This record gives sequence, C-alpha cells and structure tokens, in this order.
Amino acid sequence: MSVARVLWTSGPVLRARASGPFQMREAVHVGADGLLGEVVAVSGDEIVAQVFEDCTGLRPGAEVHGSGAPLGIWVGPGLLGNIFDGLLRPLSGYRSEYVTAGAGVRRSCRFEFSPAVKLGDRITGGAVFGRVAPAQGRTQDCLLPPRVAGEIVHIAGGGTCDEDAVLARVRCEVGAVHDVAASHYWPVREPRPVAARLPAAEPLVTGQRILDSLFPVLLGGKAAIPGGFGTGKTVLLEALARSCNADVIVYLGCGERGNEMAGVLDEFPRLADPRTGRPLMERTVIIANTSNMPVAAREASIYSAVTVAEYFRDQGLNVALMADSTSRWAEALREVSGRLGELPGEGGYPAYLSSRLADFYERAAKVRTLNGRTGSVTLLSSISPPSGDFSEPVTSHSKRYVRSFWALDLKRAQARFYPAIHPLQSYSEDAGELAEWWDAVFAAAPAGAEAGKAASEWLELRRRFLTLLDEQVRLERMARIVGKDALPPRQQLALFCAEIVNEAFLRQSAFSETDWYASPQRQAAMMRVIGAFVALAEQALAQGVALERLMALPLLRSLQRMGEEIGEDRLPEFDVLMRRMAQEVRRLSEEGAHVR
Ligand code: ADP
Ligand code: MG
Repeated sequence: MSVARVLWTSGPVLRARASGPFQMREAVHVGADGLLGEVVAVSGDEIVAQVFEDCTGLRPGAEVHGSGAPLGIWVGPGLLGNIFDGLLRPLSGYRSEYVTAGAGVRRSCRFEFSPAVKLGDRITGGAVFGRVAPAQGRTQDCLLPPRVAGEIVHIAGGGTCDEDAVLARVRCEVGAVHDVAASHYWPVREPRPVAARLPAAEPLVTGQRILDSLFPVLLGGKAAIPGGFGTGKTVLLEALARSCNADVIVYLGCGERGNEMAGVLDEFPRLADPRTGRPLMERTVIIANTSNMPVAAREASIYSAVTVAEYFRDQGLNVALMADSTSRWAEALREVSGRLGELPGEGGYPAYLSSRLADFYERAAKVRTLNGRTGSVTLLSSISPPSGDFSEPVTSHSKRYVRSFWALDLKRAQARFYPAIHPLQSYSEDAGELAEWWDAVFAAAPAGAEAGKAASEWLELRRRFLTLLDEQVRLERMARIVGKDALPPRQQLALFCAEIVNEAFLRQSAFSETDWYASPQRQAAMMRVIGAFVALAEQALAQGVALERLMALPLLRSLQRMGEEIGEDRLPEFDVLMRRMAQEVRRLSEEGAHVR
C-alpha cells in the first residue's frame, strides 16, 4: 500500500507528500496511532486528507498509510441493539468523551447460525446465504456482499459463530474464491445497489395525527423537520422512533450537544417496543457523534447511518433513519471546507452543500432488493436553522429534495402546543399518492356515514381542515382590527371550528398514556367526527340557530377530549359520539324552528 509523509496539519485536515498512488476517498491510517482518515484531494504527488479522530500530537513527518479501499464500514448482525460513533466503531459506554484512537476496533458478537444454501448452489450478489439469531433480539439474514457472486464451495453447518467467522466460500466466474462472513465491508459514500426502485403508495405510519393525516411521508420517502432551539425536534424524532411502523430504526445523533445525546442514550435502552413489549433497542441502531467529538467524523456519520439503513433494507425490511440534525452535519462540512481553503458560498457553506444534501436524500427509497424482496429507507432529518430562520441555506436546500416538510413553530412551542408543527408552513407533496391507502382505512373506520361519500373522504376532510386553518389566520387578523364580535356569525363559527381542529385533532402529547399514538383508524374516526360537526354546525347556523347555542353544546366537551378519552381499545365510542352529535344539533334546529 502507498505511503505519504505529513507536510502540514490544521485541525482535522492534513497535507502529505505521497510516494505512491492514492485515490480520492481512500481510507488512510495516520501516524503511530493509525488514526483513521480519508483522502479528500489528490494533486500531483500531494494528497489532502481529513482525519476522523483527535489529531493533537500529530506532526509533520508522520506517516500516512493508504488502505487501498474507499472509506467504509462493517455492516452485519452485530449492529442491532448497539451504539456506535460516526464511523461505526462501538462506543463503549456513552460517557467516553472522545473516540479512542486507532481504527478497526470492532465489537465481537456471537450468534446462532443456520445456513440457507448448500454446496454447489450458485448465488448472486446480495443473496441470503444463512440466518443468524443473537442471544436476544430478532433473527437476521446473512447477505452475500452485493458484488460477490458464484458457486458455494463451502458452507458452515448450524452452530454458534462470531460475526467475523468465515461462514461460506464462494468461487466466482474467474475462479477466485471469496471468504464470506456474517458481516461485510461497504464504502459509506456509495449507495448499496438494488434491483429496482419502486413507486411507493403506503405511508410511514407515525401515529401522530398532524403528520399522518395532514402531512404524510411515504414509506421510502423523505421529510425535513426544521425548527429553532427548543421547539421539539428531538422529542418528535424520539417519539417517531418509538411509534412509527418501521421494522428497524437507525437513530443518528449528529453534532448535538453531549448532554442532549446523553438524554437520548439514557432513554432508548429503557423504552419498550409498543408492538411487542420487547426492548426497543433490539431493533434499533444508535449512531452518536456529539459536538465534542471530532468534526470530520460528524461529516461522515450521516453516510454511515444511511449505509446501515440500506443494509437492513436489503434484508427486505422497512427502515426509518432519524438524523438529528443535518445543520450540525452541514456545519462540519463547512468547517472542514474552510480548513481546506475552499471558496465559501452562501452562509459560509461550501458550494457543494446542495449536491451533498441531494446525495443523502437520494438514498431514501422503496426498492426491490438484489435478493428479490421489498424494503425501504425513509429519511427523517431535523434542521436547526440559526435563530429559526427558514431561509438559511441548509433549510432552503433541503426543501428542494424532501417531499414532506414539518415546520416546527416557536410560538406554538412557547404556548406548549405540541407537537409544535405549524399547519400552514408545513406540507406534503405525497398526499395524493396516499388517497387510496387512506380510503381503505376510512372504509373500515368507525363513525362512517351511510352513503354518498366524496371520491376520497380523507382528501376531502384533509382539504377542509387545511382550509379552516388557513381561514383562521385571515379571520384572526381581521378580528384584531374590528373585534371578534363584529365578525359575521359564519366567520365566528369558522374560527370556532378551526380551534376545534387545533385542540381536538392536531394537539397530541407525546407523553400521554392514551394519546401518544393514534392509529390510522382512530385518526379517521376523529377526522370524521370533527368534519361532521363542522358540517352540522354550518347547516344549523344557516337555518337560524344562534351561534352561542351551538358553541354551548354539551357534546363539545367530549369532542375536545376524545383524543384522551377514546383510546385505541374503545373505537366504537366514536359511533356513539357521532350519533349524540347529530341528535344534539338536530334538537337545536328543531327548537330554533319552534321559536320562530
Ligand atoms: P429541540 O430538539 O428542538 O431543541 P426538544 O425536542 O429538546 O427541542 O424539546 C424541548 C422541550 O419541549 C422538551 O424538553 C419538552 O419539555 C417539550 N416538548 C417538545 N415536544 C413535546 C411534545 N410533543 N409533547 C410534550 N412536550 C414536548
Ligand atoms: Mg434537540
């Protein structure tokens, strides 16, 4: 392998004179400690590398050894349930402030292996050649590395094995024999190959009403969560990790302060999977690169995380990657770029910020895997724009690549209205794709009307809710000028109904026992009940019923509290609520008619 000598260092960046060929993106080991680095520029006999570990003590003259391979990580069954740094080295106890020097430390895990192929079988890249079951947690597939194919000339029998043990040997076309273990190496900046990208028509179900019902994200889609400090990004990502219907969660703590990450790391191992009651960690991988860890490793961590997500996707699973936050990642990019002496662009970020974001989001997809299954990677990433200004570069460039945008609002957060997602600044470009999926949910949900439904009841109710929320802003502005009582009753009713949408539907506490999760069916029933109230009230008002009497209906209390009071196991109560509402409003109309 090639060797170079360090000429100059600045923070995590070094220049070295090479006495052999180096390639762009090649992984290198630097100095006596063998610090892990990556070549980021090659010019003549000089190379520039970024180093992912603490470079204190590194001097000119130190040796840089090429590895002959691009920067990569080991993916395998030992990932689930564990906590790693940005380059996927195990973090032994999260209290360690820095990653220890010296690359290549790997946790050794033991598994029960059972083969899925036999001698003489011909298999292709990405094929499943066996399964492993850890002492605890889920059974996983052993995947042949994507670029290896050929005939099985050795396969281990069933039994206990290490992650690194050779389990199979594959002779490829040209005769070379590859040793294959449960884990394999993959370059982080290269998307793992797939057979095909598939169109998605299902949502990632989050259990959060404002997301699923108003601003859904596709399974295999991408969402950005921008929000100023303290608006609830971390709480939301954690809630989604627990409640969403992905099979595997990859949680990336990227450049957040150590104490915030410590909160996540404390919490996760204690959380139970709401579906199985088993520890949530059994299907989670945590990657932590806090602000006190080396900055270049933070830049790489986002690629490590998405590579891990793709590895589980390749086993035919739905994976959700939560990245908190891409702003801190972009800051690392900026810092390294500055040290490299590159020309700064907008906000001091390098000109390639946008294309790097594009590369990252491009890796979200629903796919047919090389072994013929269906899997997906859904990307959910928070953005922490300085002073909550959404026009800054990271937010505005992310907006070009995501399809769902969940804007957290400081005013809502300050009013303790959670989740503090602003319904007018947020959007989903994929809602149309999901109409059919929601229609099937509505067809089976309680509180359904008899007949004469709109083409898509969900799209129709969603449109109504969004229109009401939009009208609310306009009417409130007017009310501030002329006084609320001066508004015509129709408009006062619209304000009142918008408030019901906010309070009874959008508000949802992540910490409530009943309401932290709302199944699609419960969401559908709630939308229906609120939608029906709006329609009945408008009709009654038009027939001359006084607004005050509508606003004083006893059932409104139940409507406001249905999220808390009607849990998942009591769905038929929505039918009761619906009938009661129709009765109460009808009685008002009859009395009104009588008075006249
Ligand atoms: P950020 O990551 O945006 O800086 P956090 O996620 O840490 O903000 O949230 C800050 C605080 O806001 C939390 O400690 C919590 O008290 C409150 N909070 C945020 N989201 C919710 C929620 N969905 N339900 C209840 N409280 C919340
Ligand atoms: Mg946070």
